[in-house]
Amino acid sequence: METQAPFVLPVGPNPDLQDIKRVLVVVAHPDDIDYGSAGTIAMFNEQGIQVSYCLVTSGDAGGDSDGLTKDQRIELRESEQSAAGRIVGVENIHYLRMSDGQIEFNLDLREKITRVIRKEKPDLVISQSPQRIYERIYASHPDHLAVGEATLSAVYPDAQNPHAFPHLLDEGYSAHGVKAVWVVSHKNPDTFVNITNVIERKLEALFKHESQIEDKEQTRAMVEKWCSDIAKAAGFEKGQFAEAYKFIQIAH
Ligand SMILES: [Zn+2]
Repeated sequence: METQAPFVLPVGPNPDLQDIKRVLVVVAHPDDIDYGSAGTIAMFNEQGIQVSYCLVTSGDAGGDSDGLTKDQRIELRESEQSAAGRIVGVENIHYLRMSDGQIEFNLDLREKITRVIRKEKPDLVISQSPQRIYERIYASHPDHLAVGEATLSAVYPDAQNPHAFPHLLDEGYSAHGVKAVWVVSHKNPDTFVNITNVIERKLEALFKHESQIEDKEQTRAMVEKWCSDIAKAAGFEKGQFAEAYKFIQIAH
């Protein structure tokens, strides 16, 4: 039987992971991280890399006739996301609590994400793609596009430019240069993380979003198929699973 290395370095034009000590993941909705990146986060966690999350909305528009008030839904979905984070070793989660379904790319959103970047000082930021993919329209929710665009703008130039949002300096958040960004759900990914060893942890994290999952086996089959197709595209051996990103170098 083949033995696997405990950690398989990402395949792609990445900086050496030795340089990556802190990671921040910025997404629009609870469960976005777990569909796209929970395997990668689990791998980072096993490497002792510190990961934080920033959730722009708390999914307050994400329940169909669940009988909950908006505040109850926010509480439920944040508790699900926090439980999912714990499965992959993430305790530190920023909830910005903006309105689900109404996220716009603007200076206000850039400022909010810049504040979190300057607080967490990540080497690597993982976020959503600002580019709409017509073939996979669900990945291109308008909230995802806005968060992707705002996060890239917050990474460069806002977080590293002390003149951007100067009141942040008064709040104690000094300029910070992120080294790289990995974009999720990109049409042409070039960075692949082999998550075969942690696919069960990814699914366990995903299943913590109980209010959003009707049929666990159906979700498992769908996620395994996605991750298997990505592994195939990456050229990994048969029977493996992967998550994919577009790499953007920010600093050398
Ligand atoms: Zn989403």
